[in-house]
Amino acid sequence: MNVILVGPPGAGKGTQAAVLEEKTELKHIASGELFRQHLREETQLGLMARKYIDKGDLVPNDVVIGMILDRVFQPDCEKGVIFDGFPRTKEQADALAEALEEHRQQIDAVIFLSAPREVLLKRIVGRQTCRNCQTPYNIYYSPPREEGVCDVCGEDLYTRSDDNLETARHRLDVYFQQTMPLIEHYRAMGLLHEVDGLGDIHDVTVRLVHELGIKNGDSGVH
Ligand code: ADP
Ligand code: ADP
Ligand code: ZN
Repeated sequence: MNVILVGPPGAGKGTQAAVLEEKTELKHIASGELFRQHLREETQLGLMARKYIDKGDLVPNDVVIGMILDRVFQPDCEKGVIFDGFPRTKEQADALAEALEEHRQQIDAVIFLSAPREVLLKRIVGRQTCRNCQTPYNIYYSPPREEGVCDVCGEDLYTRSDDNLETARHRLDVYFQQTMPLIEHYRAMGLLHEVDGLGDIHDVTVRLVHELGIKNGDSGVH
């Protein structure tokens, strides 16, 4: 089973994908997180992607597609993948569909998560992430017990350099222009499940799990 989470920045894709990964045997693959790993390791790919990420623009399709296809056919993805932040353009969606088909796989469901613009902006500028275990926090909605410290592993939290108001606004515009058309593409294919991303993290998970028809421990889709 392969699931795509699509939606604007701040919708809760990463947060929900992490919960889903716990509940199922699916592997969470986040394109943005892969880029940030490359940036930390200062790889060539990371260095070339940086100028796009810092501005809030999309990294060119061929780069993203290559990075993701290198990752999703690894043995730890055999049971299926939760795609978070990929695909973001029609070209990426087509490349993914083609590659999955070559491996006799398919997309089983696309979850469209959304929330109002003002909520998205507040979530983005309040986002903090653990440097070590990537647990997401939010200074407004879900702060850690101790400021700047991860509840889970005790390491420092950091704020992404692209999570400032100006870049966040631009990322929302980029999302509306370049990624929104994908929603209709997947709707036309009968794969789209719309989930309201507003409300408590747990309430959103309940909606999402219901849409996917997942019961505790299994990973079926209806
Ligand atoms: P995305 O991956 O879609 O950009 P994230 O999952 O990183 O979004 O969430 C963005 C920020 O909002 C994070 O700080 C996260 O802790 C917070 N967040 C996620 N879901 C909710 C929610 N349902 N209610 C309040 N805050 C949330
Ligand atoms: P968000 O919280 O906005 O959903 P991500 O962590 O998914 O952010 O992405 C951060 C940045 O990485 C994006 O603004 C973009 O520059 C780059 N990026 C991530 N995924 C893609 C993709 N599928 N195509 C192009 N660029 C991407
Ligand atoms: Zn941690």
